[in-house]
Amino acid sequence: MAEIPYKIYLSENEIPSAWYNVRADMKNKPAPLLNPGTGEVLKASDLYPIFCEELSNQEVDNDTKWFDVPGEILDFYKMYRPAPLVRAYCLEKALGTPAHIYYKFEGNNTSGSHKLNSAIAQAYYAKKQGLKGVTTETGAGQWGTALSMATAYFGLDCQVYMVKVSYEQKPFRREVMRTYGASVTPSPSMSTNVGRKINEEFPGTNGSLGCAISEAVEAATSQEGYRYVLGSVLNQVLLHQSVIGLETKAALDKYGIKADMIIGCAGGGSNLGGLISPFAGEMLRGEASYDIVAVEPASCPSLTRGSYVYDFADTGKVCPLAKMYTLGSSFMPAPNHAGGLRYHGMSPVVSQLYDDGIIRAVSVKQTEVFEAATKFARVEGILPAPESSHAIKVAIDEALRCKETGEAKNIVFGLTGTGYFDLVAYQKFNDGVMEDYIPTDEEIAKSLASCPKV
Ligand SMILES: *Cc1c(COP(=O)(O)O)cnc(C)c1O
Repeated sequence: MAEIPYKIYLSENEIPSAWYNVRADMKNKPAPLLNPGTGEVLKASDLYPIFCEELSNQEVDNDTKWFDVPGEILDFYKMYRPAPLVRAYCLEKALGTPAHIYYKFEGNNTSGSHKLNSAIAQAYYAKKQGLKGVTTETGAGQWGTALSMATAYFGLDCQVYMVKVSYEQKPFRREVMRTYGASVTPSPSMSTNVGRKINEEFPGTNGSLGCAISEAVEAATSQEGYRYVLGSVLNQVLLHQSVIGLETKAALDKYGIKADMIIGCAGGGSNLGGLISPFAGEMLRGEASYDIVAVEPASCPSLTRGSYVYDFADTGKVCPLAKMYTLGSSFMPAPNHAGGLRYHGMSPVVSQLYDDGIIRAVSVKQTEVFEAATKFARVEGILPAPESSHAIKVAIDEALRCKETGEAKNIVFGLTGTGYFDLVAYQKFNDGVMEDYIPTDEEIAKSLASCPKV
């Protein structure tokens, strides 16, 4: 076998031409979405008022294994894909580990993260349906940025509700979105019913993804020709993100590398779900086994400390109910800089795979995440996003463990994005004033009590 290059590139025509739907291989399917008012199972057509029709169909389809990637989306993918799978030779050397470390780098586009993979798909289906525009929420700003790039490409209007704390801390992300033509409103705002209500209930709130989702849904359903789009959690988003895992697998196969451990950070579960899909599929079909690890922040630990129950997807309780590992929709994460990992719940697909023992989960503290990020940046060159650095932390720990045992394990992790817009967080870390916030059992129990009884 040829020596493994620093970067394993695929060619343009090796970009996957179909997305893989891991649900088709799951014996225990993720639980269906429910109507928040009646508790009834939602069919695709019930979702049409909120989501585009094709996306609604993808959302409820647990059987179709492969979905063709439309040519227009493939053309867009070609502008920034295939993404390289990088052998972290310098990190291995710095750690003195016999382990082989690989990372799939998704930060190679202007929005700086994997979110563009689904944003372009969602914008395409909105355009195809003849819509005027889309509404959405954004936490740290990566999703809004990705979506604004995608809507600009297809000539759609884009209205973004941005979690207030990020709107204030990340003015540069806001300006990128506006440059791509999106309008950006801090959430909770006073321009929607639900925003006014949340502002009344929690005066001075920093906002949360759950609030911003409620506002964006209200904005979509109250304007003609608009639908709501979401950057994570949903089955359709994991489907689009399977492009990450399919490329990773193709690159590994090219050099005959068998991954032992696959690590992804988990906020809503989309990059993790996409990265692991083809590997989890092999496990579900009994063809291979992998140690798959979801890494979440100790400040927002839905898998490791939440409950697997039906919950509201948003604070305003307007969205369908989803069965997921959750901390309760009223959970208000501390102002944590892992902005993209602040959601109270976890993708239903990832939740089910976790419940079935196909994947495991760990939580890590913010300061140790930034230590890992700094170590990585200094040897591998890339300034990682704080979210991605959760995966780096666990990869480094495992590589150091291999140093003790002498195992030449193949460790693969998802490097979901770059951290150029997260320099306020890096500044706090460099100044030694970053804190580790960990919610108490009482806080979690209190917010879990707000879950609906179904
Ligand atoms: C949004 C984001 C995440 C977390 O979202 P998932 O849906 O869990 O993937 C991770 N990394 C980066 C860089 C992000 O922007």
